Amino acid sequence: MKPSDLSTLPDGVPGALEAEGIEEFYPPQADAVEKGVADGESVVASVPTASGKTLIAELAMLSAVKRGGKALYIVPLRALASEKKAEFERWEEYGVDVGVSTGNYDSDGEWLASRDVIVATSEKVDSLVRNGAPWVDDLTCVVADEVHLVDDSGRGPTLEVTLAKLRRITRDLQVVALSATVGNADEVADWLDAALVESDWRPIELKTGVHYGNAINFADGSQREVPVGSGEKPTAALVADALDETEGGTRGSSLVFVNSRRNAEGAAKRLADVTAERLEPGEKRELEELAREIRDVSDTDTSEDLADCVRNGAAFHHAGLAGEHRSLVEDAFRDRLIKCICATPTLAAGVNTPARRVIVRDWKRYDGEFGGMAPLDTLEVHQMMGRAGRPGLDPYGEAVLLAKDRDTMDELFERYLWAEPEAVQSKLAAEPALRTHVLATVASGFATTREGLLAFLDRTLYASQTDDDDRLAEVTDRVLEYLEANEFLDRDGDTLTATGIGHTVSRLYLDPMSAAEIVDGLREGAAAGGASAGSKPRSSQANAAGGAPDDPEEAGFVTGSDLAADAGGDGDGAGDGDDVELTPLGLYHLVARTPDMYQLYLKSGDRERYEEQFYEREAEFLGHAPSEFEDVAWEDWLAALKTARLLEDWASELDEDVITERYGVGPGDIRGKVDTAEWLLGAAEQLANELDLDVVLDVREARKRVEYGVSEELLDLTGVRGVGRKRARRLFEAGIETRAELREADKSVVLGALRGREKTAENVLRAVGRGDPSMDDVESDAAASAAATAGSEGDSAGRSPASSRAESGDDEDGGQATFGDFS
Ligand code: ADP
Repeated sequence: MKPSDLSTLPDGVPGALEAEGIEEFYPPQADAVEKGVADGESVVASVPTASGKTLIAELAMLSAVKRGGKALYIVPLRALASEKKAEFERWEEYGVDVGVSTGNYDSDGEWLASRDVIVATSEKVDSLVRNGAPWVDDLTCVVADEVHLVDDSGRGPTLEVTLAKLRRITRDLQVVALSATVGNADEVADWLDAALVESDWRPIELKTGVHYGNAINFADGSQREVPVGSGEKPTAALVADALDETEGGTRGSSLVFVNSRRNAEGAAKRLADVTAERLEPGEKRELEELAREIRDVSDTDTSEDLADCVRNGAAFHHAGLAGEHRSLVEDAFRDRLIKCICATPTLAAGVNTPARRVIVRDWKRYDGEFGGMAPLDTLEVHQMMGRAGRPGLDPYGEAVLLAKDRDTMDELFERYLWAEPEAVQSKLAAEPALRTHVLATVASGFATTREGLLAFLDRTLYASQTDDDDRLAEVTDRVLEYLEANEFLDRDGDTLTATGIGHTVSRLYLDPMSAAEIVDGLREGAAAGGASAGSKPRSSQANAAGGAPDDPEEAGFVTGSDLAADAGGDGDGAGDGDDVELTPLGLYHLVARTPDMYQLYLKSGDRERYEEQFYEREAEFLGHAPSEFEDVAWEDWLAALKTARLLEDWASELDEDVITERYGVGPGDIRGKVDTAEWLLGAAEQLANELDLDVVLDVREARKRVEYGVSEELLDLTGVRGVGRKRARRLFEAGIETRAELREADKSVVLGALRGREKTAENVLRAVGRGDPSMDDVESDAAASAAATAGSEGDSAGRSPASSRAESGDDEDGGQATFGDFS
């Protein structure tokens, strides 16, 4: 069967597919077509990595659009959304408009109404549903990519509930769920009332094996000799061996999976020696060029290290990399310029980077719950192994695990080569997941009674998998109690309604526990009298006027920290409002300890360091600090402090590379934390507003400082388009401290402060509303230039997530843009 056999696709599409080299459908694709995927039927496709799942989704979506419908493609990671959008944009030529929904959780995405195909993460879709985005009602086809991730306790429940809601909104919605091969695809298909396409077929042969001693022992019984020299690592021998083989006309590239970012970087550095020896002269030149592009992305150690590896033909890939680094590396690997990537498992999920040889070096990973190194799931290792083999380039793919001794080899065979992948199990019946989803389900009107709520939850995978109906009801009741105690829900007899604040929490996409913690902290901040001034008794006035209760206890508030805190704990000193000083650090700490922020880990020595800082700055913390004797809660509190200090450093204009060094993180992590803090502080601002707490301005200032990465004194200037933290600092040092001053300033001073860049200076003046921004015949002021340089000396690397586009290379002008993080 081939594309032109289908009459359901928009005109021109079958020809275009055939021109792309899709001459025949792969067997699982043909099976899906037979089961009606192009005719609006729901299908679950559980097939191996790289066997053409995306095309199954495209056939469904394009056919739906041709019938006058609208399709949604749900991706598991934010970073994949733009990649998929770019892929689907090739259909615009045939009249199919594509849009991607990223950005803020709470925007309602109205412009997406005009698109035929929309790409979004499940969190984003959930948020759009909560916010009542009108086009959601028009969807006729929904694709869930990597649907086996419903098994993930962190993000799975959102996908699960979102699919249930979408199916509830649109009867007869076509659902196409794409999955890795899992143990119970039939259960997933039952849940979604979908036909099942299940297959082990792969477009290219995959040989799996274990390297032990001097050979790879393949599961099919064959062997391949790969001797390991003395002092040589098996991974190096395997990478070299693949590169030295030119079977099929191309040298084999390798993908090495390891268990941590640090290991990915370390392994890439070592393997760069192996690849460097095997480069052609032309490749060396191209790699030097690529290394330069990588250095240009940011001035950090990570960027330097990556460039050093890349010029030698190797690279590392992990979630701490900037998005641009990631795509440069992925593209160069697909172009066969980079010979070896050392990656954490995030690369296995969704990024199409096939290699001749996949080496799963680490099959254990640190797991806090397990309390040590735990073996990876079979499913996860199979997905890594599935990246082996580049169709059309390699004769076959090889996936290799490593064993030091015979027993380990036997274990690896049992565990990964001969084992079936695990079954997918819903993680919905856990309190944190239900807390969020129960509130949202009530707030967006999907259920108005406890019974209605349970009936809705009955449509989830959890319900279809469990025999124990009572368990879901029990957890739901506990969650309802929690939501009621925190005044997010009202219960009147049987009827459930969300309160005003409950609606806000749901719309803002906050975990109710985060919201409770934030509201609690803000109330204390307001009671302390707001701002930096510290002593202004603003709150009592506000309370007299607005009627907000002074004492959170009186409002019946059960806060996250109270719930977590041992009733006897009394180690705090903060928490009673009197001696609290409202500062950005306190607010950063408040949002950093919510369940919506991934905190930084405490490393060795950190506990003492942050304990000391806690006592020094005790008055700034909002909420009830646990006692030092409550080990886990205390560690959490300190980890939040470490995270808050990172944000404070960022908002004090510290260099990005100083921050990465000080906290042991990558630039991508700074961006991730900054983005999350910005979102949570924005939410805090709205909550403060709604509750009439007199802290709105303080919260806004803290948020803006994080957004721009600047001190208070630069806030006015950084709001100007094209002025990020670096330029604002230079203007400020040259004596231009506000927008008003910038509007009136001597042009030569502006030009001097902006390092003589005329175009930049003109754009900045235009943005600030200057009538005649022209820099023709203006001489740069030497004193301003000197002052600016001196002032921004320590700021050489100040690329912020918000301003790096605007200021990259200090040449380009553009809007403030935020990068997505690999969440
Ligand atoms: P998966 O999502 O299953 O991991 P992809 O959809 O990314 O796999 O497909 C892997 C590659 O196979 C893509 O480059 C795609 O263009 C190609 N491909 C898919 N279907 C066919 C086909 N029928 N014939 C030839 N190539 C195909």
